[in-house]
Amino acid sequence: MKIIQHFVDGKKFLGDSKRVGKVFNPATGEQSAEVKLASIKDVNEAVSKASKAFVSWSNKPPLQRARVMFKFKELIEKNSDELTKIIVSEHGKVYEDAKGSLTRGLEVVEFACGIPQLLKGEFTENVGSSVDSWSVRQPLGVCAGITPFNFPAMVPMWMFPIAIACGNTFVLKPSEKDPSCSIRLAELLKEAGLPDGVFNVVNGDKEAVDALINNKEVVAMSFVGSTPIAKYIYENCAKNEKRVQALGGAKNHCVVMPDCDLDQAVNGLMGAAYGSAGERCMAQSVAVAVGGIGDRLVSSLAKKVESLKIGPGMDKESEMGPLVTKEHLEKVKNYVDVGVKEGANLIVDGRNFKIQGYENGYYIGGCLFDNVKKNMRIYKEEIFGPVLSVVRAKDFNEALELVNSHEFGNGVSIFTRDGDSGRTFSSSAKIGMVGINIPIPVPMAFHSFGGWKRSLFGDQHMHGPEGVRFYTKLKTITSRWPSGLRSDPEFVMPTMK
Ligand code: NAD
Repeated sequence: MKIIQHFVDGKKFLGDSKRVGKVFNPATGEQSAEVKLASIKDVNEAVSKASKAFVSWSNKPPLQRARVMFKFKELIEKNSDELTKIIVSEHGKVYEDAKGSLTRGLEVVEFACGIPQLLKGEFTENVGSSVDSWSVRQPLGVCAGITPFNFPAMVPMWMFPIAIACGNTFVLKPSEKDPSCSIRLAELLKEAGLPDGVFNVVNGDKEAVDALINNKEVVAMSFVGSTPIAKYIYENCAKNEKRVQALGGAKNHCVVMPDCDLDQAVNGLMGAAYGSAGERCMAQSVAVAVGGIGDRLVSSLAKKVESLKIGPGMDKESEMGPLVTKEHLEKVKNYVDVGVKEGANLIVDGRNFKIQGYENGYYIGGCLFDNVKKNMRIYKEEIFGPVLSVVRAKDFNEALELVNSHEFGNGVSIFTRDGDSGRTFSSSAKIGMVGINIPIPVPMAFHSFGGWKRSLFGDQHMHGPEGVRFYTKLKTITSRWPSGLRSDPEFVMPTMK
């Protein structure tokens, strides 16, 4: 059985833990590898190497750090087919979708290539007479990242390219469900000329996460995953005096106004609800049908959901692949059972979906519920599968109230042809990322990504300008070079006369 190791100080590292996890190919249900689950000692070893590497890496001119990023970008492009296949083989999503997610990660690397410009700081000549003042942003030290299963390339790449380009060193703890992509990215960084110890990967579970939280040399933590774990990370990193950003779960609504272009809304919803089998934090899992559009919306959606092409991610015909694990498949099916018991109308039932030749894969067909109510669990909780709930709202205000009273606040969108509705909605929605006639409003790499409410604990969003702020600390220097007479002591606050 293939063993997936850690990557520490520029090389594969077995560590001393005897514990392993199992990695599966979701398309077939076969085990493809064992992954080492790091002990506290293994994690501390990685942090200690990262800490040593920080001394010289943080002193390298930003231009030299940018050159490593340029080379890394080239290597990702050159190896994109291999990286994409790794994602498909452990996550299950379809090839083109996996490739798209890698590209969205690559765009963060492209952003990080501009680090000399991004770190330029601010200067004011003559803040007082012959006194100058300037601000610089300096790296923090060893930063850590803990990432979820659903984007094995993109989410780690929201973090480490910017962290490293800013002069930090990094320890990544990827999801133990699909860990291979991170190891390959570490090898490519080394090939790009990154010094040993600057980027390290430790595989593992809660034990590795807790070791990172408790290690005093780790000064900043970036987390992406479910809300309960995000909250745990936020609270415990704060207790350990670390800077922290912890992105959590979601329940993204799509408000469908009666005046919208219905075909556009339905097509948008299909991709956003069923793409990547609904395993996206920006997936749309609730469609809010406003006014009289509900029946037409549900009947158009139903036809398309029934004809979704579901199959292995490597099959070019597949529009939707399997779920990530058997346990997750059971969890999603159970939510559909719950929805039926709660009294929602199950319009399309994908629970018994099977494909010949892939009977052990973790497939489920697309599911569509109508008449879902605010108090139902399938409305309140994140299912993270291809299950779309349609909720009926009498008007715009009721739809907005639904969006704003939900505990999650990651993404939302509205389909309308009315500028006033679009503008009022984007301005009033208590949500971090809003789309107007855009089903999945994921910000580009040079903007920042993050939700509100219980979808993000901490102050800063990820990548873009917020990423640079998160991975640096601000220092403001004030200086003068007096010549001639020495000044007398001043006992009052200096002010400008
Ligand atoms: P998860 O919370 O189960 O795991 C995320 C990470 O935390 C993994 O690396 C895992 O090993 C670790 N972890 C799991 N349990 C832990 C524990 N008890 N203590 C310490 N660490 C623990 O999430 P997942 O199932 O891998 O990913 C899906 C979730 O991630 C969904 O809720 C999804 O919405 C969310 N997500 C959010 C965003 C966002 O930007 N807000 C992006 C992607 C995914």
